[in-house]
Amino acid sequence: MTKRIAVLPGDGIGKEVAKGTVQILEAVFECFHHDYSFEEALIGGAAIDAEGTPLPEKTLKLCLESDAVLLGAVGGPKWDQNPPELRPEKGLLGLRKALGLFANLRPVTTYPSLLHASPLKKEVVDGVDMLIVRELTGGIYFGNPSGRRGEQNEVAVDTLEYSKSEIERIVDKAFQFARNRRKKLTSVDKANVLESSRMWREIVNKTVEKYPDVQVEHMLVDSAAMQLIARPNHFDVIVTENMFGDILSDEASMITGSLGMLPSASLREDNVGLYEPVHGSAPDIAGQDKANPLGMILSAAMMLRYSFQLEKEASILEEAVAKVLKAGYYTDDLRVQGGKRVGTKEMIEKVLDAI
Ligand code: ATP
Ligand code: MG
Repeated sequence: MTKRIAVLPGDGIGKEVAKGTVQILEAVFECFHHDYSFEEALIGGAAIDAEGTPLPEKTLKLCLESDAVLLGAVGGPKWDQNPPELRPEKGLLGLRKALGLFANLRPVTTYPSLLHASPLKKEVVDGVDMLIVRELTGGIYFGNPSGRRGEQNEVAVDTLEYSKSEIERIVDKAFQFARNRRKKLTSVDKANVLESSRMWREIVNKTVEKYPDVQVEHMLVDSAAMQLIARPNHFDVIVTENMFGDILSDEASMITGSLGMLPSASLREDNVGLYEPVHGSAPDIAGQDKANPLGMILSAAMMLRYSFQLEKEASILEEAVAKVLKAGYYTDDLRVQGGKRVGTKEMIEKVLDAI
């Protein structure tokens, strides 16, 4: 049966990078005679302009019926002054929620020709290849904010709540990823202080019985924040709760130093997923053929791997990206000395050639 991919280019450079990425996926599917369909829909500012809402009914319907969603980026100055329900970002939040995505994946990989882009020393970041798995539906962001705000007694409260099943499903997923990689899992918590972290630890220790081939360690979040900078090569897969994951994944992105290179995925149990580059719509360079399309292309590789179990095809995309960088091609954001500067379209051509 034909697999369906919903393509939501969105706004700004989202449109430019999504277009080329679909071309690349089409080329890969054709090589392997895979049966896939691409269906495009509006989201974000583009949807507000055309339909008066950031997440039109038909877009939502398409995404719910698809096997995976490929998203460019949403937002831009044109809609910044809109009322809250008419902001482009609202469309993306609504979509994530409607799809029930609970596992956010952010791989952090360094490339030999881009080591200078990191603020860390070359020898520290050389060879880094880690995957951060962040829980996306629970924790303090979804607790009960409350407070007593008076003259005398100013109190503000946020509750942090996790159910056993919420932890079990994310931990299990992380073990599966670790099993398919270097078989090392670092579970990050704050078990010396938080009850939810103690439960988290118990569940990790129980789940490892199912994955005896995976080596597990527990790390406190403060220590993990330090180790990420001191020795990022220590990590293979990191699994952690919502807020710790939010903070650590932004910290880890600086290991690579280039926003335009970073992919992400958000998955649910059956591996239906939303794939998008970490960067935003970059209004300052939109429409100028300057955007780096590699973060989006690497997001597409994640889609092949996680939603479609096409490991070989995913590796082909990733190796093509590595090859193009090795050959010295770079977009404006990467500033490679002695290489050849190219625009978005030419970069996509180079990746197609490498495939
Ligand atoms: P958000 O939309 O999530 O708020 P932001 O405004 O923080 O994101 P971006 O829109 O990603 O960030 O842009 C931040 C800076 O990085 C801008 O100067 C932008 O031009 C640059 N940038 C972002 N993505 C890319 C890319 N793919 N290629 C080149 N430059 C990029
Ligand atoms: Mg922005």
